[in-house]
Amino acid sequence: MSRPLRAEIDLEALRANLRRVRHVAPYARVMAAIKANAYGHGVVPVAQALGHDVEGLAVACLEEALELRDTGVVVPILLLEGCLDVAELVEAARRDLSIVVHCEDQLCMLEKARLEHPTPVWLKINTGMNRLGIEPGMASAFHARLAALGADRVTVLATHLAEADDREATTTIRQLRCFDETIAGLGGPQSIANSAAILDRPDTHRDWVRPGIMLYGASPFADSVGVDEGLVPVMTLSSALIAIRDCCAGEAIGYGGDWRCPEAMRVGVVAIGYGDGYPRHARSGTPVLIRNRRAPLVGRVSMDMLTVDLREVPDAAVGDEVVLWGRDLPVEAVAESAGTISYELFCRLTRRVPVSYRNG
Ligand SMILES: *Cc1c(COP(=O)(O)O)cnc(C)c1O
Repeated sequence: MSRPLRAEIDLEALRANLRRVRHVAPYARVMAAIKANAYGHGVVPVAQALGHDVEGLAVACLEEALELRDTGVVVPILLLEGCLDVAELVEAARRDLSIVVHCEDQLCMLEKARLEHPTPVWLKINTGMNRLGIEPGMASAFHARLAALGADRVTVLATHLAEADDREATTTIRQLRCFDETIAGLGGPQSIANSAAILDRPDTHRDWVRPGIMLYGASPFADSVGVDEGLVPVMTLSSALIAIRDCCAGEAIGYGGDWRCPEAMRVGVVAIGYGDGYPRHARSGTPVLIRNRRAPLVGRVSMDMLTVDLREVPDAAVGDEVVLWGRDLPVEAVAESAGTISYELFCRLTRRVPVSYRNG
């Protein structure tokens, strides 16, 4: 017997979500965001499943890129934060990585390094996200200096949207206007769109789109779930009921005793907790799925276990599968109830959770 907890990754769902990207952005190349271990889905299997069906893979740092190259991934890989020092730059060039240039220091490094291979560069322009990126006024000077480094060097003009997930936000319109004014007259492919912009703003698609969360089947918007956007959940996190307790009216459940049974009822114990990455702050009422019915979490989440109200599932028995999110239970519902977003739920699953793959 082993612990019943597992995350099952459906690689056919991943490919279906990529087809969805292609359907909504038919003219753009796809740079798939697979940073942070492919949002917790396992970077190597995800990269292999995407294979040559994407034009590029985006990661946060050199370590993530090298892991992919070391396992034989040959498609273009982009370092979203660029290189931190010259040694990284030399290694990035040697392993045929594309790099973001987001500041003066990174451009100077590139000018001094005299690399043999012309690493493709994504010049990141700050249009209002105010995280990484050169100021718009510097763009044409950077563009010229990059061009001077070699005629065959590709420079993608890129920016990142701060509020694309809010369909009403005027920030996106301002950022787009800023980007278009900044790059007017500068040659080269353009890239703006994350998942939200891919789904909601065709005017951002340009030459390269950068889908992340939608590839994993979750909605980037607060007002919809993945299936509403034509997406298929890739991860199903499940465990099992390991105990059922008959409680009396008024009994308190778990640490702190802040949830009390309103009547005599059955309470189920599920083998998953915050030690596995389930959010400790998930409120009472957060749904889990047992026998295709939703049962609400009650009491505090502990390290290895959580407790659920079984009143809606009278036939529930020890050993029953419990889905925490995924198939038939949107991760967005759990995220909302835990005061977070699907991205974080995916990323913070711990190494304790065995991951298996299907349709590879
Ligand atoms: C992570 C990331 C993306 C993907 O964002 P999603 O909201 O997951 O689609 C796109 N661009 C950049 C620069 C990123 O860091």
